[in-house]
Amino acid sequence: MQPVNDAPGCLFCRIAASEVPATIVRSSDRLVAFRDVNPQAPTHVLVMPRAHHPDVDALAKADPETLAELVRAAAEIAVEEQLDAFRQRAVPEPGGVLREAPQLTNDARLEVPTTAICTGYTSDEYKAAVKEGYAWLGGCAELRNVTWVDLPTSHWPMWSRPEELARIIGDVANADAP
Ligand SMILES: [Zn+2]
Repeated sequence: MQPVNDAPGCLFCRIAASEVPATIVRSSDRLVAFRDVNPQAPTHVLVMPRAHHPDVDALAKADPETLAELVRAAAEIAVEEQLDAFRQRAVPEPGGVLREAPQLTNDARLEVPTTAICTGYTSDEYKAAVKEGYAWLGGCAELRNVTWVDLPTSHWPMWSRPEELARIIGDVANADAP
């Protein structure tokens, strides 16, 4: 279906036609998604059909395939935006890239106080896994000064229990401060 602008002057149609600037995050024959200039949330993306329809009921009757594409696009954009936000906040851009795995040999490293914040499994489950020699916990068995802290939630505690996680890390950082 060709886009039809039967509502001259409509702001959204002008955005779709690139007559009004917008930060486009997705564009296809049928739809355009762009960032709201007056966001009501950290991420606020509008997804709209290229063709003008007075409301979603009219769109559903006139062009159900485009409505389905809108719904699908909105879900995909939500995932992409979450991932972008996650990358920005949790995975800072590295200053340089390490090309070879470092080999740490100084035995003193095993005395460094280590705090294990257990979120996806309990500390007892982690300790048992260390004892059984699970590869993904490689090296943990050698550490001589480990404090285990339980924070039951998920493997993304920075989203599910951020304040408690921050408090634990802050307490650990302050504990040995001069
Ligand atoms: Zn319009």
